Amino acid sequence: MQRPQLTGPYLSTSWPQLVPYSCIYGYIAPDQVPTESAHQELNVLVNSSLQDRTVTIYYVEFTSPDLKIVSSPKTATTDFIFEQRIDVQRFMAVAKQRGVFPRPRRILLLVNPNGGVGRAKTIKESVVRPMLEHSGLMVKEQYTEYGRHAIDIAYKVNLEELDTLAVVSGDGVLHEIINGLLSRPDWNQSRRLPISIIPAGSGNAIATSLGTRSPVVATLALIRGETARLDIFSLSQRNRPRIYSMLLFSWGMMADADIESDRYRWLGPLRFDIAGFIRMIRLRRYPGKVYILPPQHESPGPIISSSHPPDLKGPAVQHESLLKHTQEEPPSPWKQLPNMPFYSMMLLLNCMFVGESIYFTDRVRFNDGIMHVWYSCETRFWRIVLPFVLDQNNGKLVERELMQYVKCGGLLIVPGVEGEPNDSTTHEIVHPELVTSDSAKQLNIHQKPGVFDVDGEVMPTARTLIEILPSFMDIVVPEWFHHKQDQGERADLARQKTEIVMKSARCHRDREAKASKIMEAAMLLLAMAAIVTTYAIFFSEGFQVWAGIVRHI
Ligand code: ADP
Ligand code: MG
Repeated sequence: MQRPQLTGPYLSTSWPQLVPYSCIYGYIAPDQVPTESAHQELNVLVNSSLQDRTVTIYYVEFTSPDLKIVSSPKTATTDFIFEQRIDVQRFMAVAKQRGVFPRPRRILLLVNPNGGVGRAKTIKESVVRPMLEHSGLMVKEQYTEYGRHAIDIAYKVNLEELDTLAVVSGDGVLHEIINGLLSRPDWNQSRRLPISIIPAGSGNAIATSLGTRSPVVATLALIRGETARLDIFSLSQRNRPRIYSMLLFSWGMMADADIESDRYRWLGPLRFDIAGFIRMIRLRRYPGKVYILPPQHESPGPIISSSHPPDLKGPAVQHESLLKHTQEEPPSPWKQLPNMPFYSMMLLLNCMFVGESIYFTDRVRFNDGIMHVWYSCETRFWRIVLPFVLDQNNGKLVERELMQYVKCGGLLIVPGVEGEPNDSTTHEIVHPELVTSDSAKQLNIHQKPGVFDVDGEVMPTARTLIEILPSFMDIVVPEWFHHKQDQGERADLARQKTEIVMKSARCHRDREAKASKIMEAAMLLLAMAAIVTTYAIFFSEGFQVWAGIVRHI
């Protein structure tokens, strides 16, 4: 990979020949050749500085499964950042050989204080900031002040002053910055700004799929700045601004559960399990028609043409004319999914994990340019509950008979019963654009045909065209991401490494380990209390739930 040259303020008069190396990101262990082994790959340099003919290098060291406490001449500068002083000549030789001399990059870090159970600030203070301070990168921090603030920030950000836009949050804020960047009139430039996520939310599906579930590893990836291409889904509805998604679109049981889980935010990732279980008990049917564009007719991506008016917001896709005449069937080669009057769930996915604990499939790649869709029409509680409980987190659910799978290049969803004004394209009852989880209540999510869930946020339920923008943006990835070309192996590797890192992270501070155990126990108690409360509420509703179950059986 071509590295940019150092310029400007990084030139020094005293050690001109050495200065380019005063910001080196790469492997430490100068006398060891990095191998494919998980531990050495995680052994990454944060930064170096030069003084008195000695290079001081700051790095994070992972040795399985605990973080090794290194002895003299290495000294700990924080709990997990170590420093070592080594001979300049030797260091330069190794650094040159590795070719790791990037220009210090300029990073804008957006922190969502509301993400997950509100730990983003703590993660930023205890992990991200100390590491970035040692990194020599130019970092600006900003807190998001209200829901969807990140859209406004990304929409206005000056591309000339920035090399990476990073978020400390869950997938929702990453979704927002993608939408901010792609809605700009200069979207064809802004889409090239690398984006990065340091996980601090409840879902964290993207970070987990990338292998950066640990904030330490995610921050190291940010420091190194390695990127990979990312497919983006474009979602269009008539008379509404386009919405872009990097993670998932879902409709039906999983969508309703995801959005409804917002009220149990204080439970952390457990909120998805609780809301999912409740939704399974109260299973609904979601009527509608779904059309697909077969993969051989894959959408060739956005229309990028010089004849576009300069104020066109966001990349236009190929088939938007399908939204003009809402009553018409799409022409060939589009075809309808065979004769389904209703669905129980539908999921379009761009990566392996749906949430940090929900490993859904290894078929999906971030940049394979294909839309992978799973759907089910099964509405019997007892046929759904076991597969979901047993196989939801091991990638096997998708192999069950219950789940149908289709690959496509485009998806047209027409929710609602024909002739009835359920499809809000005929009934402008909802907000003119993407609404936040908070406003989900106003959409009356208990009404058929359910909500549309885009990356964990609500979208109006209406005739929707989804197309793919292949390899459209760049996302920061850990350095091992490109090592294994075989994606299946990479999935395994990513999972193994995430496990190692998470173990390390858990072990590396006894205090934190104890605190997290207490937290886990408290969470469990709270979850049990929530379940009991929920059942109590159901009972007070007059046994409808139990009647529903009995009917299903
Ligand atoms: P999680 O994974 O926990 O859902 P997200 O990163 O998805 O975390 O963020 C959840 C929501 O928080 C998003 O809808 C975002 O718009 C909203 N949000 C961001 N900043 C704030 C804030 N300062 N106050 C309230 N909500 C916010
Ligand atoms: Mg979210």
